[in-house]
Amino acid sequence: MDKVKFSPHETPGNMSYKVGLTGGIGSGKSTVAKIFSELGVPVIDADIIARELVKPGQPALAEIVTTFGREILNAQGGLDRSHLRHLVFTSEALKTRLEAILHPRILQQMKRRATRLSAPYCVLVIPLLVEIAQKDIVDRILVIDIPDAIQRQRVKARDQLSDTEIEAILRAQSPRAVRLAAADDIIVNDTDLATLQRQVEHYHQKYLFLASQQWN
Ligand code: ADP
Repeated sequence: MDKVKFSPHETPGNMSYKVGLTGGIGSGKSTVAKIFSELGVPVIDADIIARELVKPGQPALAEIVTTFGREILNAQGGLDRSHLRHLVFTSEALKTRLEAILHPRILQQMKRRATRLSAPYCVLVIPLLVEIAQKDIVDRILVIDIPDAIQRQRVKARDQLSDTEIEAILRAQSPRAVRLAAADDIIVNDTDLATLQRQVEHYHQKYLFLASQQWN
């Protein structure tokens, strides 16, 4: 690869170009992230970080207990995730409070991990990227788009949810158009895995190029 130039104020430690990967439930984020990873691109996943942040002993868990009460813990002292999910699903106010505890910490962690990388670019998987205020945490937004009918089909096959449950989840997410409006790049994941692979490879080349240009 070409030598990457960086400004005198930047160190090689924080020069990884950041691509934010987002999309609705079942759009294909995990599948696409895996393909990027197989291409050698570091992937930082908000959901994995969120899980780490609520492990016993972590400050975020203590704050969740202060907010939601000790009933939110299971017998082992860990977070009762399904109880929490139920609470935030039934109350918009509680959902906002949980997000206020988790989102800043998740983003800070993602930023910190990205800063340590020396790869030309990295992928940050952030399901709620379009919803959060700090979109500028990434240099570029890649949206995985999928027609409604295929989305329902894939979620149903993967999660064994009822139609009512799927509708409720979809209603709580940003509409497709809002996500698309925030996109710099779009992958339409409406065919097979081989097509998806090709689309990701196309963007891989593009991001390598953009990363090589970022300090010019
Ligand atoms: P997300 O992480 O956005 O929720 P996933 O990557 O888990 O979505 O994809 C949802 C489901 O659809 C998974 O079971 C996955 O294997 C399947 N899937 C994703 N893309 C394709 C595709 N192009 N062809 C067939 N199945 C796919």
